[in-house]
Amino acid sequence: MVTDSALLLRLQTEVLEAVARGEPLVSVADLLCRRAQELAPEAICSILVVDDDCKLRPLAAPSLPLAFSSAIDGLAIGPKVGSCGTAVFRNEPVMVTDIATDPLWDDFRALAEPLGLRACWSSPIRNSENRVVATFAFYYRSTRGPDELERSIVQTCVHLCSIAIDHEMVRERNHRLAYYDALTGLPNRGRFNELLGRSIRLQEPFGLLLVDIDHLKMINDTVGHVFGDLLIRTVAERLADCHPALTACRLGGDEFAVLVADCHSEHALRDAATRMLNAVHGLIQMGDQTVDPHITVGGALYGPDGDTEASLSQNADFALYHAKETRRGGYIRFTPGMRTSMMERATMVRNVDQALAENRILVHYQPIVKLDTAEIVGLEALARMRMPDGRIASAGEFHAALADPRIAWQVTGQMLTQIAADIRYWLDIGIPFQHVGINVTSGDFQRGDLEQRIVEAFEKYDVPLRHIVLEVNESVYMGGGDIMVPKAVSALRQRGLLVALDDFGTGFASLTHLLSFPVDVIKIDKSFIDKLGTDRASDVVVGSIIDIARRLNMTLVAEGIETASQAIMLSELGCTMGQGYLFARPGSVADTSHLLSMFAQRLDVMPEEDDERRSA
Ligand code: GH3
Ligand code: MG
Repeated sequence: MVTDSALLLRLQTEVLEAVARGEPLVSVADLLCRRAQELAPEAICSILVVDDDCKLRPLAAPSLPLAFSSAIDGLAIGPKVGSCGTAVFRNEPVMVTDIATDPLWDDFRALAEPLGLRACWSSPIRNSENRVVATFAFYYRSTRGPDELERSIVQTCVHLCSIAIDHEMVRERNHRLAYYDALTGLPNRGRFNELLGRSIRLQEPFGLLLVDIDHLKMINDTVGHVFGDLLIRTVAERLADCHPALTACRLGGDEFAVLVADCHSEHALRDAATRMLNAVHGLIQMGDQTVDPHITVGGALYGPDGDTEASLSQNADFALYHAKETRRGGYIRFTPGMRTSMMERATMVRNVDQALAENRILVHYQPIVKLDTAEIVGLEALARMRMPDGRIASAGEFHAALADPRIAWQVTGQMLTQIAADIRYWLDIGIPFQHVGINVTSGDFQRGDLEQRIVEAFEKYDVPLRHIVLEVNESVYMGGGDIMVPKAVSALRQRGLLVALDDFGTGFASLTHLLSFPVDVIKIDKSFIDKLGTDRASDVVVGSIIDIARRLNMTLVAEGIETASQAIMLSELGCTMGQGYLFARPGSVADTSHLLSMFAQRLDVMPEEDDERRSA
């Protein structure tokens, strides 16, 4: 004959094996209830867990109707909440031998009596931290308390439940650590990969949006890393709460991936991106510091933009990269051209990297002249690369590499040093000299140190900043949605530098923008000059630009003048300055020195002042 203790030992072994096999907690609890009932045939077993809000949640009760468990689900613990709710509240076993009369059951009698439940003995289950996390209850169909064997069974079961719940908690924690990001609580990269894989296996329409926070490095540097963390957490929260169809994951650093469910079209993807761009805005405050977060988004649609995990992710990444360069703070969807240009750029970046290391980045200068006298009033500095075979490559041949912020930063660094040294040389030997235009790209603005670099480079050679004109492409200045650029430009103007809006007419700027984005010089793009005299619309546009710039007291320079008739027309329209092959091609510092000594306007003042002085 098998003894009770042998039966209990068998129950224990069976349940522990189920825990060790990694069976889900709910199955282990169900097994435990069934085996306990086999050993105590008069008992009806129920296990409830207590959630973080101190509410009861049914875990297993194989012999009780579902309706009974549902009625208990979500009850808050308290001093008079049946046997289980009270046992948790009191942190001790509660034995109700007659449900019909015990006041603890006043509010729940109607639930128990129709099922013939007459008594209930509930024991709290504590986890390894001694916190009550569940209850183990025996119901009886008669008014009674437990016998000796039932006490032993419950004691064993409470212990086993505690082990199973602890095991589940460890498993949940491991799962959280493996799949969720600690800082934001969002699914991490590993989980994202699984979700992406699942979406692709389901072959249902969806979109992928990649998000990167703008200028986090600068925020870390200026306001502190703790604020940076808060910014990441807040952006994560805002993305997560954006819309039920969007699942946001943190890939690492300040990069997020958002899966857009049920996304059939380019428009739907754009709508989701726009929703996110709007949702992340709103001041974040810490102490007396506030920051309004900005993000940039790249998107790819499952199917047209990639049908494997790798291709879709990579293409969304290309789009994000492209957006960072051309539409910071905005959204761009992948197009196949982005891939080719990225590949070409990768090769160029390698070449320029090498040229930088071998000091093969040079400055050439193109004169800017007065159209009426052809006197040189300024220069534009242009980057050149000496190729390993000695040939001088023009900027167009490596321009795309400058879209890489690191490369742009380094090239600008070498250019600033050379330009400062050249200006010093001209000043020292008494060559008449006014100003040099220096081109800067969005990459130069990104680190937030452009002002400091310019000041340091020119201070080193004791060159006054009034000799410098910063040439900023209009799409960089006012079209990129990047708040940093106008701020930096205005700081530089206060330092005494002049700012020229380069390639005017090709980007986003309208003439009215000029009122909110002040500049000193406007450079009309070559494409307008090319069409002068052949295209009436261009004539009208150029005429209007000249007229408005003059009223706003801005200096105008026409770029890319190649013929005498273009120069004459520009003069007639009221443009006083220009540059182009008609006057001089870009040349080395030696060639430029020669030109300056012969043709430079002999005044150390800005051309407008010169004009004013003459007319006065
Ligand atoms: P961009 O505008 O081009 O996106 O530049 P960025 O300054 O945001 O820098 P980028 O996206 O290239 O790199 C992310 C930076 O975020 C790098 C690191 O300094 C910072 N960062 C990464 N992880 C964390 C983090 O957990 N907390 C904080 N505070 N900063 C982080
Ligand atoms: Mg970033």
